[in-house]
Amino acid sequence: MGDAGPLEETKTLKVAVIGGGPAGLGAAIALSKLPDVEISLFERAKELREFGAGIRIGYNCWRVLELLGVADRVKGHHKTSTIHRNGLTGEKVGGTSVANLPIKYQPRRVRRTRLQSALISKVPPGVIQLNKKLASLEDLDTEGVRLTFQDGTIHTADLVVGADGIRSVVRDHIFPDHKIRFTGTTIWRVLIPVTSVAHIPELTVSTSWWHGSTGHVYHSFVDDPEEVPYEARMMEIAARNVVDPETVNGKTFSWGVPATKERVESHFVSYDSRIRELLSKPQEGQWKEFSAFAGPRLEKLTGWNKVVLLGDASHPLSGAFGSGAAFALEDGWILARAIEYARSKSEPLEKALEVFDDIRSPYYLRMYQYLDEQKAKVVGAKKSNPDATFESNLAARMQAFGGEDALPWIYRNDIEDVWKTYLRKQSTPNGVC
Ligand SMILES: Cc1cc2nc3c(=O)[nH]c(=O)nc-3n(C[C@H](O)[C@H](O)[C@H](O)COP(=O)(O)OP(=O)(O)OC[C@H]3O[C@@H](n4cnc5c(N)ncnc54)[C@H](O)[C@@H]3O)c2cc1C
Repeated sequence: MGDAGPLEETKTLKVAVIGGGPAGLGAAIALSKLPDVEISLFERAKELREFGAGIRIGYNCWRVLELLGVADRVKGHHKTSTIHRNGLTGEKVGGTSVANLPIKYQPRRVRRTRLQSALISKVPPGVIQLNKKLASLEDLDTEGVRLTFQDGTIHTADLVVGADGIRSVVRDHIFPDHKIRFTGTTIWRVLIPVTSVAHIPELTVSTSWWHGSTGHVYHSFVDDPEEVPYEARMMEIAARNVVDPETVNGKTFSWGVPATKERVESHFVSYDSRIRELLSKPQEGQWKEFSAFAGPRLEKLTGWNKVVLLGDASHPLSGAFGSGAAFALEDGWILARAIEYARSKSEPLEKALEVFDDIRSPYYLRMYQYLDEQKAKVVGAKKSNPDATFESNLAARMQAFGGEDALPWIYRNDIEDVWKTYLRKQSTPNGVC
């Protein structure tokens, strides 16, 4: 194995996928459709149990779920409208209506467990190995990569797919100088029965954002009414608070661990009474806390000519666009296309990784650049209007908010078109379409 020779279709490629989130599961599905690929997926958890609450699935995600053959298994709440409110007074300050897309591509909010179980159902039996926490990896040159797990077991592979999330062990090994930092944002998430807030009409009429001066509270249904009876339907709450990260140095950070009711509610005491009531509904122990981390852009998403990073491991942006699952799934699908392409040209694995990097690196670069521009705009606005109030800032934000239509290269991304465009460029002299 791993002689770095051409990727002939007849030679079995041993792939080790690290991580059983959207990136790892999507990659396992896409790669398992290729001939002569032997996949093992290693997940550190004892069982594949999604934590968090809901997840937004928009056009970009539906397209890749379709390509993976999973779309019809993912059901959720059809988001027809979204309301933005001043979280302190409840006043309506903005909103968006239904997206101009065929119904199957319209945004839905789904339980994260639904997405996960739909993906797992398409991974061939025997591929997923649980309770396997990767501890380290070693470049064996022409012999591939040696993976050592915390339980002392060892595995070797021709290709390692690092899909192990924002705190990636794989990334730490191939790019040891890359560091991520706490962004200052803490998010608390929970699912509660819709019936528990049915008496508050403003909470059950629409997906809503209640904005405060240092954060917001978001709530949405997550179930498809055709599938889940009213009494069993759940509402997702995601409450977010932002502080200056410099003020919290040295503190410990949480990821998916329980937070007390008191801790969560203490950040939203000045909010509208309806929101305070909403936040009081979860039972003690139900809230989960997530400290958001982010890091600089990676120059390359591949290393050692046999390791590739997918999903949050490859672009530690900390959920900046609410589309991280789509990016993760797109990565896996493109990786499979790149391997197929290199094989068809009798090129080595290195070529497949180069193709992957050529397509995905510029995409993530564009996201980093966009976020830098937004940050610069906020700083500029603060400088030019130092006396701005919370209300005037919120009004300005709502005016500037273009919704999904403002970022079609993200929210209307069609990964199959991206691949076709790449192929066209390869077959056109000078790479120009
Ligand atoms: C609060 C919040 C809200 C979000 N909302 C949305 C949304 O609405 N829509 C959306 O698309 N995205 C959303 N995201 C982002 C989305 O959740 C991520 O982008 C997505 O889960 C990334 O998938 P992944 O597979 O790359 O990483 P993960 O989902 O983090 O999966 C990584 C997996 O690797 C495993 N792992 C880690 N280390 C090891 C190891 N050493 N050995 C073995 N296994 C390991 C982990 O247990 C985990 O199962 C949100 C994120 C947050 C934090």
